[in-house]
Amino acid sequence: MPDQLSDALWAVKETASEFLQKEIAPRTVQLREGASETKLAAEIRAASKAAGFFTKTQPEGFGGSPASVLELTVLRELWASANSPLTRHIFGPGPGLLHQAEGLLKTHYLDPQLAGDKRGAFGFTEPDNAARPTWAVLEGETLTITGQKSYVTGGERADFLSILVNVEDREGAKLGTAMVLVDREAEGVRQTASFVSMEGGGHAAFRFDAVQVPSWQMVGRLGEGMPRALANIGNVRLMIAAEAMGVSLWALEYLRDHLLAPHRSGAPLGDKEGVRLRYADLRIKVFAARSALYRAARWADAGQNSVNEVIAAKVFCTEVAGDVVDWAVQLVGGQALVVGHPLEALYRKVRSMRLVEGANDLLRLNLAKGNLELDKGVI
Ligand SMILES: Cc1cc2nc3c(=O)[nH]c(=O)nc-3n(C[C@H](O)[C@H](O)[C@H](O)COP(=O)(O)OP(=O)(O)OC[C@H]3O[C@@H](n4cnc5c(N)ncnc54)[C@H](O)[C@@H]3O)c2cc1C
Repeated sequence: MPDQLSDALWAVKETASEFLQKEIAPRTVQLREGASETKLAAEIRAASKAAGFFTKTQPEGFGGSPASVLELTVLRELWASANSPLTRHIFGPGPGLLHQAEGLLKTHYLDPQLAGDKRGAFGFTEPDNAARPTWAVLEGETLTITGQKSYVTGGERADFLSILVNVEDREGAKLGTAMVLVDREAEGVRQTASFVSMEGGGHAAFRFDAVQVPSWQMVGRLGEGMPRALANIGNVRLMIAAEAMGVSLWALEYLRDHLLAPHRSGAPLGDKEGVRLRYADLRIKVFAARSALYRAARWADAGQNSVNEVIAAKVFCTEVAGDVVDWAVQLVGGQALVVGHPLEALYRKVRSMRLVEGANDLLRLNLAKGNLELDKGVI
């Protein structure tokens, strides 16, 4: 069985491939011809709900049918291998950081987020020149937040921001970290910049000047900020690794077609031994990286502590994707660098993957610490 998937999961993958052919491929052509993405996205969401994909990222309590980590990994890899901007509309909004939210957090934030009525964005990264990381003073039932977040994806369109803060009491005694939800329109929240990164993502920077937030807007307990932020990042890291592999599969297919096509030298480039060596290296790396990705997903499904394995998968898969797209550009030649060529766009996309959700070298340091200091991690 390919990829050692169960019969059931293999059947899901086949249905998902048909979905790509039927629902995504024709609309991707329409998008290129100028159709509105908003209209196409609504059609895809309706088709995805009917096919049962939309709710796979949503909790049961909300009418969802949550898929295993492995199933989500397989599907995310498949969506990315279609190389279409429209695949991001297939899955419904997930709970992210709010996955165990109850009470007011559930009614005011989680439920509207899952219904698509409210959008959240994640604020973790601080500007290089920040005098001190964002902090909050806790007095009674109120947190007063001061600081900055410099790289908030989707921040401009978000209704609320989930930000990491260091909490202290009125005398300045440290109480621990917390993830706090802050309404983007709350008094004292100021968007200071809006920018686009090279792969096309839209981001914003924010300043918080003594923003007052009721303490129920804290996610989890005081002191749980960093572990909760990292747990959420862990899920996203596996998602990025899966996307990196999907992109790699698309680029390898594209390259294969190119190597088999006629070339002005008189014989296809794929006939040349030197080119074959390069091509084989890419296939070896993608095979190894996909194996690592699937193993990390199974490890997470087994309920094991998979922090280090997920880090390994994120680092390895994103670096392999970088190699694959870089060599695909090299072997396809100058035309691949023309602005608008699919490999040119993928080159920018895979470059950002090595920084997003933890710069790869910092993740390496975390992995080494996990093993050397905490005796964690499998090989
Ligand atoms: C597309 C995209 C989307 C993003 N979305 C978000 C978001 O939604 N929310 C959010 O909070 N952030 C987001 N980020 C920011 C991202 O998380 C940070 O860019 C990343 O964590 C690196 O932090 P930094 O940019 O401050 O670089 P720095 O921390 O300054 O690091 C720069 C480089 O220095 C090196 N380095 C730093 N420290 C060490 C060390 N101790 N040892 C060895 N080398 C080191 C590494 O090579 C690192 O890449 C996004 C970034 C990108 C590219």
